[in-house]
Amino acid sequence: MKSAPFDYTRAAQGSEAIARLSGSQGLGKPVAGGQSLGPMMNMRLAQPALLVDVRGVPELLHCEDTGEAVVLGAAVTHAAIEDGRVPDATRGLMAHVAQGIAYRAVRTRGTLGGSLAHADPAADWINVMPLLDARCIVAGPAGRREIACAAWMLGTFTTGLGEDEILVSVRIPKLSARARWSYYKFNRKPGEFAEAISAFLDDPARGVCRAVIGALDGPPHLVANARALLEELRTSGLGALGRAELKAAGLQAGSYEYRVHAVALSRAAHALLVSEGGTA
Ligand SMILES: Cc1cc2nc3c(=O)[nH]c(=O)nc-3n(C[C@H](O)[C@H](O)[C@H](O)COP(=O)(O)OP(=O)(O)OC[C@H]3O[C@@H](n4cnc5c(N)ncnc54)[C@H](O)[C@@H]3O)c2cc1C
Repeated sequence: MKSAPFDYTRAAQGSEAIARLSGSQGLGKPVAGGQSLGPMMNMRLAQPALLVDVRGVPELLHCEDTGEAVVLGAAVTHAAIEDGRVPDATRGLMAHVAQGIAYRAVRTRGTLGGSLAHADPAADWINVMPLLDARCIVAGPAGRREIACAAWMLGTFTTGLGEDEILVSVRIPKLSARARWSYYKFNRKPGEFAEAISAFLDDPARGVCRAVIGALDGPPHLVANARALLEELRTSGLGALGRAELKAAGLQAGSYEYRVHAVALSRAAHALLVSEGGTA
């Protein structure tokens, strides 16, 4: 199928993109890599009358190391993260995740911000950013605001982003030198979306031990204090704590989805425990 007719404009500045979106009375949409919006439009699941291309907006390409965090522009591509062409706050976690997204051709065009704004529960960044306690910086006609990534996704393909707002950048706190992480993505073929995602982040110097259970029917399930869960998985495998978290994630015991997520959780915990720091 082909998309419905639409107008296209390229924004030179964030303010211009916001003005165009505001002027479109809800009929306009930002476009970045087009890797999700393009297929949605071709299937006529999305029919914007106006596409506002934000890929050339300098602010959305700007990256900086602020000392305590790294700020990545929303239009940074998965490939730039994979290749280490942007600063890394995560001791390799983001590059590891990026190389597992789709295929290189998709990664060359697809962006961090586009992925977060699209909010597919099975996508990678939507699950990783809450684990990292990252924050989204959003701009709109009323100015700027920040949204914690843990509260970013409201439901499947739904965020709190207004129709005339754009995601400008993502602020990612730096992990300490001894932080360890693991990321387990279950998919049957490389390049596919996940059937289950589990990840752990253990950063004692910052008092952080978190886990995420993702690729659910809605937002990821974040375990803010995962120390006891990790200990349980280490000593006795999936037990009462693990079962409680899977239940809290909305998974029904005995279902195929439950079993796949249980395996992903156990493997992510194991990968963390055998890691020497940094990558797992
Ligand atoms: C074959 C294939 C396999 C894939 N596999 C995976 C995978 O394994 N894991 C994974 O995570 N993803 C996967 N993807 C999705 C891919 O990562 C996309 O790049 C990503 O989801 C969207 O990024 P984009 O820049 O292309 O966004 P676009 O398609 O341009 O836009 C997506 C949505 O975000 C909005 N948007 C874009 N930029 C902004 C902004 N700055 N501010 C506000 N709204 C914005 C758009 O309006 C639209 O609603 C796959 C895609 C394909 C085609």
